[in-house]
Amino acid sequence: MTHCPDTAPAPIAPPDLPLQEAVDLLDGATSVTILCHVQPDADTVGSGLALGTVFARRGTPVQVAFASPSELPASMATLPGVDLLVPADRVAHEVDLLVAVDCGSAGRLGTLASRLDGARRSLVIDHHRSNTRFGTFNLIDDAAVSTTAVLTEVFDRWGVPIDADLAHCLYAGLVTDTGSFRWGGPGSHALAERLLATGIDAAAITRRLLDSHPFGWLPMLASVLASAELFPAARDGRGLVHAVIRCTDSAGLGAEEIESVIDIVRTTAEAEVAAVFKETAPQSWSVSLRSKDDVDVAAVAERLGGGGHRFAAGYTTSGSSADVVAALREALG
Ligand code: AMP
Ligand code: MN
Ligand code: MN
Repeated sequence: MTHCPDTAPAPIAPPDLPLQEAVDLLDGATSVTILCHVQPDADTVGSGLALGTVFARRGTPVQVAFASPSELPASMATLPGVDLLVPADRVAHEVDLLVAVDCGSAGRLGTLASRLDGARRSLVIDHHRSNTRFGTFNLIDDAAVSTTAVLTEVFDRWGVPIDADLAHCLYAGLVTDTGSFRWGGPGSHALAERLLATGIDAAAITRRLLDSHPFGWLPMLASVLASAELFPAARDGRGLVHAVIRCTDSAGLGAEEIESVIDIVRTTAEAEVAAVFKETAPQSWSVSLRSKDDVDVAAVAERLGGGGHRFAAGYTTSGSSADVVAALREALG
């Protein structure tokens, strides 16, 4: 990581690309690396595997990867195209086109950000408002509910027919990033209808992605939720609720169990903002933020070095649990 003085001028970001130019770029690629973000979710993996499958079918050499953890979360193991995934250390150092999917910044690529240097060109396909436009080309639609929704437009323009395997991957990102259609506009339902018409089993896909946990999830929830705290006065009385998941709480459990906690904590009626502090190593934390109506948590996360969307954002930080909670309360105001 480079350390720039605060006074350094901000680099001028390349402009966003029209859809047709993104399609031309993809269409002309002779070898492709597709990178998903670290701690991958179903939107980044679904996007990566759908796009990877299209290239594989065209006979274009393609690798799909994410930097960490080393294993794909079990809930995504049945997504079509998983055989295209390669371990991070096997990702080619030189490639014609690198595509980053669902990554708001190069930092979200983890150690694989190094592969940007050896790519002749790079294309970022994303929907984060905070996207830093780190590709040579950037296709960013911050009004899209998921990166898989952006990719559907790419496929349509490219003339790629969406069959059940592609629909499965695209639906995975759509259903998870819309909170099972709790939010997202009419466009997300129209897209869902179109994907379901290919014959995919939406109930089974959703159950596997969102509603399957080992029994050990229950005692973890009991201990983590018991220590949740509510600060009703935070952010001018809007309220903050938070919970802390220590390594000792989550030992032996998978990413799905840890990521599920924010969806319970954020239901607290007395708090506009919810936070879950997830310990990734002693004194190192990945933090999930959620809001409901009128607090922009992407702005809060950006202040703390992260990013995301208006109602769902995150950042990484270090320190004691008391320190990191205090830093969030300060940034929230
Ligand atoms: P999560 O709470 O991990 O589900 O993340 C919520 C949103 O915040 C997602 O859109 C992420 O892309 C974004 N996000 C999470 N962690 C970070 C981070 N460390 N840096 C930038 N964005 C993040
Ligand atoms: Mn994501
Ligand atoms: Mn997404």
